[in-house]
Amino acid sequence: MPNKDYYKILGVEKSASADEIKSAYRKLAKKYHPDVNKTAEAAEKFKDINEAYEVLGDEKKRANYDQFGSADGPQFSGGGAGGFGDFFGGAGGGFSDIFSDIFSAFGGGSQRAMEKGEDVFLNLTLSFEEAAFGAEKTITFPKIEKCSACKGTGAKDGKDFSVCPDCRGTGRVRYQQNTMFGTTIREAGCTKCNATGKIIKEKCESCNGKGIKRVQKTINVKIPVGIDDGQTIRLRGEGNAPTREGENGDLNIRITVLKHKLFVRKGSDVYLDLYLPFTKLLLGAKVEIPTLKGDYLLTIPELTPSGTVMRLKNRGIKNLNRESYGDMLVTLKAEPPKSLDKIARKALEELDAKIDAKSYAKYQNFLAKK
Ligand SMILES: [Zn+2]
Ligand SMILES: [Zn+2]
Repeated sequence: MPNKDYYKILGVEKSASADEIKSAYRKLAKKYHPDVNKTAEAAEKFKDINEAYEVLGDEKKRANYDQFGSADGPQFSGGGAGGFGDFFGGAGGGFSDIFSDIFSAFGGGSQRAMEKGEDVFLNLTLSFEEAAFGAEKTITFPKIEKCSACKGTGAKDGKDFSVCPDCRGTGRVRYQQNTMFGTTIREAGCTKCNATGKIIKEKCESCNGKGIKRVQKTINVKIPVGIDDGQTIRLRGEGNAPTREGENGDLNIRITVLKHKLFVRKGSDVYLDLYLPFTKLLLGAKVEIPTLKGDYLLTIPELTPSGTVMRLKNRGIKNLNRESYGDMLVTLKAEPPKSLDKIARKALEELDAKIDAKSYAKYQNFLAKK
């Protein structure tokens, strides 16, 4: 397959300056950009223009192209690499594209293999108030960190290593595999450098050449207002460091919220069972109760049935990540006295006699239906 004439594609002379090439590329790229021109022909042209500029816009690649007809120099057109190109249909300029397609299919990519460290899981117990109002907690936990003595290289003083010659520092090697379906290119960890990409001359003593260390880490954790029992706080990048290059795992803190001595929480609502002397429900009363926003004077009208729920708007817990609050729900419950002395009993009997039986509508209704 003959090489494409990149000069012709960009419409410039072979002697064109770098600036001339750049401006020619810009003009053509604007004209055939897929956002502007949606035809298949334009898409093909746009691809060619980019391919041409990738070579001619780079001094070294352009020199190779001028001399050898290829951006990659003589080894590409003549040596083993060319064999792969032929194998994949002799695509010539598309050589590297095809490689990256195949490697990404194996999850490797053609770049240095990146790795994510493991996630760390912790449990943290909070008081009812800490969960309701938020808090700042200091926690200490074991985790794997990059060794600070060698900056994660595993080499003494962080510089006593060289790039692995087998994988050229990528930590990955490619090999050809013949199967009944044909030949495929596979990627695997480099065995010479243990997939680290580095050959260590003298090991770091602090981490014994591993580049990572188990440490006791102490961090401050901001507990968001309104977090609830069973929820997890996820701190990105606070987990374990990977053994090779890459990002840290996450820290997952599972929250347990302790019971309150009076309140019961359901979502952002707070419940209180308020037992009162039965006479207060009959006679009416003012009772001071605690709420999450301070004490509140609850006014109980006379003849309030036991079991009545009074809703105090917005006196519950703030919703997580929202500027709204739950309610406080107070269930009023009549408590009879533990015992009655003679006088009290007599008074109640007189009271009972004085109240007209018809005054108890629900009870009458029951009697009528049974
Ligand atoms: Zn070290
Ligand atoms: Zn290697």
